[in-house]
Amino acid sequence: MKISTLFESKDKTVFSFEVFPPKKDSPIESVYGRLEEICALSPDFVSVTYGAGGTGGHSRTCEIATKIKRDFGVESVAHLTCVNSTRQMIDETLEDFKQNGIENILALRGDYVPGVEPKRDFRYASELCAYIHAHGDFDVSGACYPEVHLESSDEVSDVLNLRKKVDAGAQHLISQLFFDNAVFYGFLQRAKIAGINVPVEAGIMPVTNKKQIERMVSLCGASLPPKFVKIMQKYESRPEALRDAGIAYAVEQIVDLIANGVDGIHLYTMNNPYVAQKITQAVKTLL
Ligand code: FAD
Repeated sequence: MKISTLFESKDKTVFSFEVFPPKKDSPIESVYGRLEEICALSPDFVSVTYGAGGTGGHSRTCEIATKIKRDFGVESVAHLTCVNSTRQMIDETLEDFKQNGIENILALRGDYVPGVEPKRDFRYASELCAYIHAHGDFDVSGACYPEVHLESSDEVSDVLNLRKKVDAGAQHLISQLFFDNAVFYGFLQRAKIAGINVPVEAGIMPVTNKKQIERMVSLCGASLPPKFVKIMQKYESRPEALRDAGIAYAVEQIVDLIANGVDGIHLYTMNNPYVAQKITQAVKTLL
């Protein structure tokens, strides 16, 4: 099933999850139990990340996306990055996806890897979007950044570049995580002004431990509203309380987003079934 069809119903908010493959030195089966539990929550789809290096990462992404679709009965989306891939490598990956019945791809540029000279075949995700459409019958999604992509100089150029990605065939957008809904609403307005009319899912990351917060902020530059900082400071030395507070914060964000008519919620599950279950239970009647 192509995930674009999910957004056709205006009565329901799309609810999807993100998961990631295990590290290279762990057997792939090591995540299957957790992914099965996550899929048992019946999200509309599950997306599977792609190794940052882009080299050889596709087989695990493909294997897991295939497992989710065939064995766990949930539609899957395979992420695909291009900054470290040649055209031939992308062709091979697309062929692999095709052979395994993967119909949906989240097309990404990927981050530059320090010390690795990027390949020059694809400079931006927009070029990958166009290439995928020209080389197969895939549904293509793209990433967007409510707080502006880290390399962008300003909001205007960032949203104009996003428009190029949509024009190149991104049929649906998934946002970077954010902790302040006002930031997301501001982004939606800029996107509308720029003529971006495709569905946008809000990326929500339930923060459940202190290390995760530090990592997230340094990696994606998400700003932390005072309310969030207060909660995290209060519970930082009590892991269970911090986890529950992180879940409660994410639920509050989701309730507000749904009430404001968001197209979809994309939950960064961190492969954690407990957290995914708690949040799904709290919001499923609202979708
Ligand atoms: P692009 O859309 O190409 O944008 C990159 C930068 O270039 C931006 O600053 C943009 O404004 C600028 N730009 C774009 N087009 C032009 C143009 N024509 N001219 C000038 N400038 C331009 N990374 C992974 O390695 N694996 C994953 O699985 C993964 N999944 C992700 C999922 C989501 C939902 C999100 C939000 C991010 C994900 N990332 C992943 C991270 C992503 O790869 C990085 O954020 C990367 O730095 C940018 O990727 P992009 O596809 O958004 O790039």
